[in-house]
Amino acid sequence: MTELNLILLGPPGAGKGTQGERLTSAQPLEYVVTGEILRAAVRERSELGLKAKGFMDAGELVPDELVIDLILERVRGEAASDGFVLDGFPRTIAQGEALDAALAQLGRDLNGALLIEVPDEEIVRRLSGRRVSQSGRVYHVEFDPPKVEGKDDVDGTDLIQRDDDKPDTIRKRLSVYHAQTAPLIGYYEERGLLHRFDGTLGVDEVADHVAKTVSTLRLEDDV
Ligand code: ADP
Ligand code: AMP
Repeated sequence: MTELNLILLGPPGAGKGTQGERLTSAQPLEYVVTGEILRAAVRERSELGLKAKGFMDAGELVPDELVIDLILERVRGEAASDGFVLDGFPRTIAQGEALDAALAQLGRDLNGALLIEVPDEEIVRRLSGRRVSQSGRVYHVEFDPPKVEGKDDVDGTDLIQRDDDKPDTIRKRLSVYHAQTAPLIGYYEERGLLHRFDGTLGVDEVADHVAKTVSTLRLEDDV
């Protein structure tokens, strides 16, 4: 089977992580979660983490020059040679262009940009109730609760609330999304790569729609 190279687009809280986790547990695709990589760098207090922290706490984007090489290194890596799902990258046109240039250099193509759409009012409810495990698994206190309250289903560790999932920071992140990331929708639509999903549906329903589209993309690619 040929490789499948995908990106997940959508506002913070649309369900990119929720769907990305499901998609990549069902298919052997390298899953690259930009926010998780940056949060790990902050926890480790690496040079990157120290530079990124202030931007993340403020709900702003980390500058392109810190993010682009970090993610492209993963795209070029052996683990992504059969395909990848990028979650949270690209988030600016400059990042999209850098991804295109890197793929062109590798003689590879992007197969699809999966856009999960959710209105702003819903995002605030989603992110205020989001809880995450240390390893990045995502839950919602009401919409997608863990089996045991406050504990990760897989390893039983305590779930936490992200520092940037506070109402003021959520609103800032949404305005950053509309100004800096939403232009990528047109960028991929023009090239016929965009696939839209109604992210207000239930988790399972969105997952079904995504899985159907991804299997169509595989078929197209195999022809
Ligand atoms: P993103 O990665 O786009 O920021 P997440 O996958 O972390 O978004 O989802 C944000 C929050 O919304 C999480 O708490 C998640 O459990 C919840 N969520 C995700 N998809 C849905 C859905 N279809 N319906 C209701 N809640 C959802
Ligand atoms: P996320 O977990 O995807 O919501 O990302 C959390 C935070 O990490 C964002 O609010 C940004 O500060 C930063 N971040 C994640 N992805 C990117 C990116 N592609 N470019 C710049 N900053 C990013």
